[in-house]
Amino acid sequence: MSTGVVVVGSFNVDHAWTSDALPRPGETLAGLYASGAGGKGFNQAVAAARAGAATTFVCALGDDSGGRLARDLAAADGIALHAQGSDAPTGTAGIFIDARGRNCIVLGPGANAELSVAHLRAHRADISAARILVAQLEVPPATVEAALQAARDAGVATVLNPAPANIDVAGGLVSLADVLTPNETEFASLLAHHLGERIDPDEVAMLEQARLHDLCRALLPHGTVVVTLGSAGCFVSHPAALRRGDDRPHYRTPGERVQAIDTTGAGDAFNGALAASLARAPGKAFEGHIVFATRYAALSTERTGAAASMPRRPELESRYG
Ligand code: ATP
Repeated sequence: MSTGVVVVGSFNVDHAWTSDALPRPGETLAGLYASGAGGKGFNQAVAAARAGAATTFVCALGDDSGGRLARDLAAADGIALHAQGSDAPTGTAGIFIDARGRNCIVLGPGANAELSVAHLRAHRADISAARILVAQLEVPPATVEAALQAARDAGVATVLNPAPANIDVAGGLVSLADVLTPNETEFASLLAHHLGERIDPDEVAMLEQARLHDLCRALLPHGTVVVTLGSAGCFVSHPAALRRGDDRPHYRTPGERVQAIDTTGAGDAFNGALAASLARAPGKAFEGHIVFATRYAALSTERTGAAASMPRRPELESRYG
């Protein structure tokens, strides 16, 4: 039986402070504190599970309260957890959020930095049994590469969220993606790294669609690229060989109008929901999956937290039918 979605990635305990503005160097601000579970990998696994896919999460955890939190929360959402034990502390993130919902983040990778190729290989059977493999870049690149390669060897489709942007992405990783999902900053960084194209992240959303399509095709000639554009939605670019039915070569999908109060994890919501939708209805036109992920991610911004802000499928259905 297919397990639907396997997510390989990070778990962090998030420590978040919300204040009127983001702190500047040397400044001390008072803010409201909250802690919760996060990490791009875990957020995406929770989103995939709550969006309706049977989900497996492969990660590394410390022998501490953070590790126990991960196990408890995964069980609560019905996620099959395959955690490598580590002497390092469970990953942490310090998050600052301003009154407009914008955020700045500092990561303490801890155990995430130790997720090994050997642990990944020990769980190859889960990957082979899945419909979709999802990975990001908060765990070692060699482990991400092994995960993507294991999926490719088994004919399992891969979604690579090349985040965060400040990590040097090995060329081989991008080419192992069937679907690549950078935000504007990550897209600009990939273009600079792979194509020597210097584009201001703030200008990505303003580029003509034909130009964006050409850049996506140069970046990933044989895969689909989805550039997420925050509240403006996303841009999708397909290679000719992959297009099915009424799929257009490229298109913009606008964001849903919502009262966003915290966009932390919006990209993770989008990726998890996209993976779940692809796993649940593999024959559906790609644009339908994008609309689902766009609605799902928009709803996640209406509440605070990372993993905790992921909506459940019935909430989505009651809002959008
Ligand atoms: P983050 O790093 O905050 O998790 P990201 O930068 O990876 O997010 P974004 O491009 O900001 O990803 O957002 C991903 C998707 O979430 C967007 O394509 C959009 O569909 C949705 N989204 C994000 N922000 C908003 C918003 N303010 N209103 C509606 N939808 C939003």
